[in-house]
Amino acid sequence: MKAGAPLTADSPVSALRGVGPALAERLERMGLHRVQDLLFHLPSRYQDRRHIHPMADLRPGMEAAVEGEILDVEHLRGRREQWLVRLADGSGQMQLRLFHLHGAMRGQWRRGRRLWCFGELRTGFHGLEMVHPEWAMADTADFQAPQHLTPFYPSTEGITQLHWRRWIAQALPLADQLPDYLQGLLPPLMPSMGDGLRFLHQGEGGTPAPAHPARQRLALEELLAHHLAVRSAGAAECGAAAPKLQGPGALWRHFLQQLPFAPTRAQERVIGEIRRDLGRSRPMRRLLQGDVGSGKTLVAAAATLTALEAGYQAAFMAPTEILAEQLRDRFAQWFSPLGIGVGHLAGRNRSGERRGILRDLEEGRLAVVTGTQALFQEGVAFARLGLVIIDEQHRFGVEQRRQLQEKGSMPHLLVMTATPIPRTLAMTIHADLELSVIDELPPGRTPVETVVMPDSRRAELVERMRDLVGAGRQIYWVCPLIEESEILQLRAAEESFAELSAALPNARVGLVHGRLKGAEKAAAMAAFQSGSMQVLVATTVIEVGVDVPNASLMVIEHAERLGLAQLHQLRGRVGRGAAKSTCILLYHPPLAGKARERLRVMRSSQDGFVIARKDMELRGPGEFLGTRQTGLAQMRVADLLRDEALLAGIPDLAERLLARDPAAVEGLLHRWLGGRLGYGQVA
Ligand code: ADP
Ligand code: MG
Repeated sequence: MKAGAPLTADSPVSALRGVGPALAERLERMGLHRVQDLLFHLPSRYQDRRHIHPMADLRPGMEAAVEGEILDVEHLRGRREQWLVRLADGSGQMQLRLFHLHGAMRGQWRRGRRLWCFGELRTGFHGLEMVHPEWAMADTADFQAPQHLTPFYPSTEGITQLHWRRWIAQALPLADQLPDYLQGLLPPLMPSMGDGLRFLHQGEGGTPAPAHPARQRLALEELLAHHLAVRSAGAAECGAAAPKLQGPGALWRHFLQQLPFAPTRAQERVIGEIRRDLGRSRPMRRLLQGDVGSGKTLVAAAATLTALEAGYQAAFMAPTEILAEQLRDRFAQWFSPLGIGVGHLAGRNRSGERRGILRDLEEGRLAVVTGTQALFQEGVAFARLGLVIIDEQHRFGVEQRRQLQEKGSMPHLLVMTATPIPRTLAMTIHADLELSVIDELPPGRTPVETVVMPDSRRAELVERMRDLVGAGRQIYWVCPLIEESEILQLRAAEESFAELSAALPNARVGLVHGRLKGAEKAAAMAAFQSGSMQVLVATTVIEVGVDVPNASLMVIEHAERLGLAQLHQLRGRVGRGAAKSTCILLYHPPLAGKARERLRVMRSSQDGFVIARKDMELRGPGEFLGTRQTGLAQMRVADLLRDEALLAGIPDLAERLLARDPAAVEGLLHRWLGGRLGYGQVA
């Protein structure tokens, strides 16, 4: 210990032996300020150095600990000075190669001494060798082979694993001083915080198993901290009052009269939930989950009309331009009979048009606006914004929602997603949102048969299309996603278009892609919609929004390149009529492991819930939930999938903690989220 006050969990990191000003600054930059912060800097992996491997068992590529007798030491003075050491253990021999040996150490390397070392084996000039292993003389009184697993810590430039291990060894005895915020709130057999930390840092008995209670104790606390962080961000929003959006509902009834179908029971139910929220001065924070094609847009329309009837404006945001345009089209079509205009703000607006819309929004002449993030940029002001609707919630984090609320008054918020997150998970990561679920599809949907096929069978497929077209059916042909280049994607679409036009002389084949002008795209879509066009070749622009019940075949080229969510969205375009529908997933062999798994999932399930869960497993929760949920992607102990069972108890645990000891929240947030709060303004 350094001179001065005794080390405590609250001491600054600079109080640790071996932490000078430069290293202290590096630690600060990692958000590690106090000794206790180091305790929560947990290993990302472990190595087992306890077992000594007989040299006869060693193979190239292995990482292993060995112990043996030094046979000889050869000092080579070439361009690069080095030492070659031969080591034997009775079962075999090997060589060590070292490039620098300090004077004091050099004296120890003598023939006949026993040496312990650990490193990776490779094939050298004279058989197996280790380059620069970690080592210790094994024939001294204070030598002790490792008793625990050796931890590896996430690090930064200039801090070695040895640094971490030495510092944390000093900090660990203080683990029992840490406040136990959850004392008395957990089942009695849960280990203490101190035991949990020792277990994770030392990996006693083996790599900590996910189900080990000591690991679970920490995972539980970490999940709780994230939950509390989201909740407190939400609570900050909820302090302000929102306008009460109430009305007799005449506008909605009027709208329903001109709609060619009636809402499903599930739609009715969630519309009821939303209208109840909108009628209160507490701002609505609601997440609407509904599978592809379940009719979320209609629910959004109901909410919008409620706001309008109360004399407020509504803004509807989609994550991409194409989706935003489709929303605009749908709303324009639905609302024009009611005499309600729809404005649109996207990156592509010409500036004159944009200025006009901005003025109308600011002066309250325009009540409904759709768009992309452009909606909430600076310079967009609303006269009376009462409701914000966001499509595809999981791409939209708490921080973005907060920005949006800085647009003057506090609007009600409805976020919609087709990606069902398991309920327990949703309650934890969207702790500030209430959940509505559309659990029923509109009537008349038929199950889609899904076939996975190599692209070598394309000709056979085109034959089959000829028969289908002859029978009066319509077909979607979706072209590969080429992430790197829109031009390449366009070329691929044009090739398929030419090929299909030639192969199907009796059919009208159309082409739509992102580069078409709005009017051209609309004309092609309208021809397909009306049935005068039988085959629609498209880039993935048709992902959402297209609705042609007579289309009974969808072919997706290079399906191996698409993610599960996108494949599921696309497939949702067929199976909307009475005819039996098929979705053909063409792939280009060979199929890599994850792509194969994705296609297998698509073939075996049509349930958005099952598919989303698989998607999360394949991509990992961080990626699945979107990069913006940064806090979640960086959990240290917990794993949203593996620890799903723990999630269920978190909201209740949070309630009990808040009731007993609200002051504990700050400590928990600091402990687990430290300097890298991913949730907006958390106190
Ligand atoms: P999503 O939930 O994927 O956003 P949409 O809102 O795009 O789904 O709806 C999919 C299709 O179902 C649209 O063509 C829509 O008009 C239609 N639809 C919505 N609700 C109903 C209903 N109650 N009855 C029949 N069709 C409906
Ligand atoms: Mg939708």
